[in-house]
Amino acid sequence: MEDYTNEINRRKTFAIISHPDAGKTTLTEKLLLFGGAINLAGSVKAKKTNRHAVSDWMEIEKKRGISVTSSAMQFDYDGYCINILDTPGHEDFSEDTYRTLMAADSAVMVIDAAKGVEKQTEKLFKVCVMRNIPIFTFINKLDRESKDIFELMDEIETVLGIQTYAMNWPIGSGKNFRGIYDRNTKHITRFYAANNGQKLVASVEADLGDPCLDELIGQQNHEILIDEIALLDGASSEFDMEQILNGKLTPVFFGSALTNFGVETFLKQFLAMSPTPLPRESSEGKIIPTENEFSAFVFKIQANMNKAHRDRIAFMRICSGKYTAGMEVNHVQGNKIIRLSHSQQLMAQERHIIEEAYAGDIIGVFDPGIFSIGDTLCSKDRNFVYEGIPTFAPEHFAKVRQVDTMKRKQFLKGVTQIAQEGAIQIFQSYNTGMEEIIVGVVGTLQFDVLKFRLESEYGAEIRLEPLPYEHIRWIENEDIDIQDLSVSSDTKKIKDLKGNPLLIFVNSWSIQTALDRNKGLRLSEFGK
Ligand code: GDP
Repeated sequence: MEDYTNEINRRKTFAIISHPDAGKTTLTEKLLLFGGAINLAGSVKAKKTNRHAVSDWMEIEKKRGISVTSSAMQFDYDGYCINILDTPGHEDFSEDTYRTLMAADSAVMVIDAAKGVEKQTEKLFKVCVMRNIPIFTFINKLDRESKDIFELMDEIETVLGIQTYAMNWPIGSGKNFRGIYDRNTKHITRFYAANNGQKLVASVEADLGDPCLDELIGQQNHEILIDEIALLDGASSEFDMEQILNGKLTPVFFGSALTNFGVETFLKQFLAMSPTPLPRESSEGKIIPTENEFSAFVFKIQANMNKAHRDRIAFMRICSGKYTAGMEVNHVQGNKIIRLSHSQQLMAQERHIIEEAYAGDIIGVFDPGIFSIGDTLCSKDRNFVYEGIPTFAPEHFAKVRQVDTMKRKQFLKGVTQIAQEGAIQIFQSYNTGMEEIIVGVVGTLQFDVLKFRLESEYGAEIRLEPLPYEHIRWIENEDIDIQDLSVSSDTKKIKDLKGNPLLIFVNSWSIQTALDRNKGLRLSEFGK
């Protein structure tokens, strides 16, 4: 086997997570600019203009460009090969957003300095914690008034339950934002608002207390900084690389993505600390990326990229070795040797066919309908499977009613296939068959997509009746009969496609009731 160690070890594959509007797109764009991947600032942004009506699935994709059709953006910087995984936010937030995190080796969490930890950050964070991947925090928008910085750090620790280590520290915020102090190098980088921070950046190396800093950032700011750093040094966690790699401690950086301030420093330090492609658990134990031949798993299936051909693209994360166009691999779940060709990769907005790729990379492979989410591909002489991708808890539920009951067959085929692709989850009341179908989704846009696809692809018109449930829990105890559980009257007993029993609740209070009334009951937010 050829040695791909150098190629693999220069790869960094990560996802950026944030609550909508915290600045993920802006930060991504700035990172791409450093890599020279796009010339035009604002091109990532283009997807945001032109809010569309959900009228045509293809159109949705076209208009959204990068957000929906892509899965990863790749560029080179400073000798590294960087893969940024796209995690769609807003109303296109879906299970795919969660699944994408299964393909990442680390995550960057963007937080709006004025808002702190918000709901969607919390949800995505949980998935990162489940995987024990390192999380790096970028506190954004320091050019605007921010919350108290110590309070922000405290919020991350208490709300998310992760320790923090400030790598640098902001000097003021908003109109009074003067720059950042690097705790390691003791450099102060001065922010100049007039220039939008783009060109004129003064970086000064001086010990705190040095009179030259009075001039650079102002005497009062200098005094405050001395106090704050003393407080920080005394009270915060120690820098501990092992804890960072285990996802127990998050290095925190400050800056302003919009004005490109603090972004390159962040990128450099992030690249130095974040892991290269990680080994993954499989049925044959840990697979080491550099020591094994090609293997990958499918984490996302994109249906109907082209309506005329009804084609699908299976996005896979390469976990070990090298991919070469046209290679033959073992599709383990399909129990078949297949040829992988026409793989695509995304560079900013353009798709292109790729000839080779390495562990850490994401490739999109044409899928004639043979792949499922979680499938493993490996070299012809191997036969192992990677650990499956969990099912994530939907938060919106609706009862599906068919308009034309004569089309029962098409309807059932449609919902089942769309559910198999992983775009929606379907459930039934525990006691009935397919008479009553309940759909669960992570983001409400998926309801529209379901309706649209059932009509256009399967000729089955449906009506969706929203249900009040917001939480779903899988029952972990294998010896419990769901019929015997005592639950509040607004809790519903259902089962998924595989027959697993579940409970859906209207609020978290009902979840507690179920736990209180049924001693020993174990509920999980992730399905098998
Ligand atoms: P996303 O929803 O997380 O992708 O957020 P965007 O990157 O689209 O940013 C949301 C809004 O915040 C946009 O209007 C950005 O221009 C603005 N924004 C992003 N970063 C900064 C920043 O550092 N400072 C300021 N003042 N605004 C920012």
